[in-house]
Amino acid sequence: MTVTDAAQVHWEAAAALRQADPQLADLLAAEAVRRAESLQLLAGENVTSPAVLAALGGPLIDKYAEGYPGRRHHAGCALADAAELLAIDRARQLFAAEHANVQPRSATSAMLAAYAALLRPGDVVLAMSLQHGGHLSCGSRANFSGRWFDFIGYGVREDDQLIDLDQVRELARLHRPKAIVAGGISYPRHLDWAGFRKIADEVDAYLIASVAQITGLIAGGVAPSPVPYADVTVAATHKLLRGPRGGLLLCSAELAERVDRAVFPFSQGGAAMNEVAGKAVAFAEAATAAFAEYLHRAVDGARALGEVLAAAGARPQTGGTDTHLVTADVSPLGLSGREAEQRCAAAGLMLGKCALPYDPAPAAEGSGIRLGTGALAAQGLGRSEFAEVGALIGRLLTDGPDPVIGARVRELAAAFGVR
Ligand SMILES: *Cc1c(COP(=O)(O)O)cnc(C)c1O
Repeated sequence: MTVTDAAQVHWEAAAALRQADPQLADLLAAEAVRRAESLQLLAGENVTSPAVLAALGGPLIDKYAEGYPGRRHHAGCALADAAELLAIDRARQLFAAEHANVQPRSATSAMLAAYAALLRPGDVVLAMSLQHGGHLSCGSRANFSGRWFDFIGYGVREDDQLIDLDQVRELARLHRPKAIVAGGISYPRHLDWAGFRKIADEVDAYLIASVAQITGLIAGGVAPSPVPYADVTVAATHKLLRGPRGGLLLCSAELAERVDRAVFPFSQGGAAMNEVAGKAVAFAEAATAAFAEYLHRAVDGARALGEVLAAAGARPQTGGTDTHLVTADVSPLGLSGREAEQRCAAAGLMLGKCALPYDPAPAAEGSGIRLGTGALAAQGLGRSEFAEVGALIGRLLTDGPDPVIGARVRELAAAFGVR
């Protein structure tokens, strides 16, 4: 049986769904096939671990447990309490944090709670500008953040694409923000947490670490941890961590109550207790040697991808990577980011177009592509396979579409099953 057949059978086997809703069952079977036949390089995607999936589909999915362990608004919460306490304890240990809140439904809602815990509407916040890789929750006018706070953006230097802490300090002194946000969605280098802390102290601002993209690397000790430096750390349990979609907040014991109240009741109602259970499983898995080995392959693979793409004529931003991310300028190849994304997607290579700092192209086109190695590392790819994937992308971008490339992508995808 091929991987594609296996993916289809997996969904055919969901008998209750097939009987109740054949239309949706067909959709999911087709999605399983699409997934099994392509190689996933979108930076935020991964393969959720089977143990986490089991917890997500487990009995806590039905439990209403508004509030916190020992302080619930509903009856029958003793076991839900035990599951949440397990998640909290494991998160505190994994990240060496005094306090953890495991209830945010997403990293964006965790950002909302972090702001709510520390700020008032109208406060000035200094964060990475969206053009330079800040997330929507760092001041987009289309997002609550840009409507409720007064955002000032810092960026990266034009010549080496690295964060310029001197610029951050200058802007902090000029605008006296109430909080500084460090972290973004496409910055491939480690952040200087002590440097950000020093600037925050100089202007008496809070430091918020926005690390959804690299939470897994921090858990595994592969990226430096912001926890000793930041007042509040905003993390994600999906992406590299391979847990359920969701957010996580880490902070000092002193801020614990403010952070907890900012999640419930300020910005959320009852937590999804099945997700909380899934987070507990993900935190335990992230502490294993197998997880460390997966992270090692993810980072090593990203380096290999960057090198091969550079050899093909693309320009990796910052000249390389410390993480699972590669952001590369494809304009030297005569393509826009959107064209590169489409050409790769047609061959089963899923990656994302992106606008680069100082990008002259319209945002909808972008001059860059962004790749992440989390999902393929979870499927078992190592350095030599990542180098081959990079070479396939390089050939597509330089020589144009070629059916041989699509066939090789499907072969690789079949050799490394999704689950
Ligand atoms: C992915 C990401 C987010 C958004 O996460 P959601 O869970 O989709 O809300 C926010 N900030 C950063 C830095 C991210 O990488």
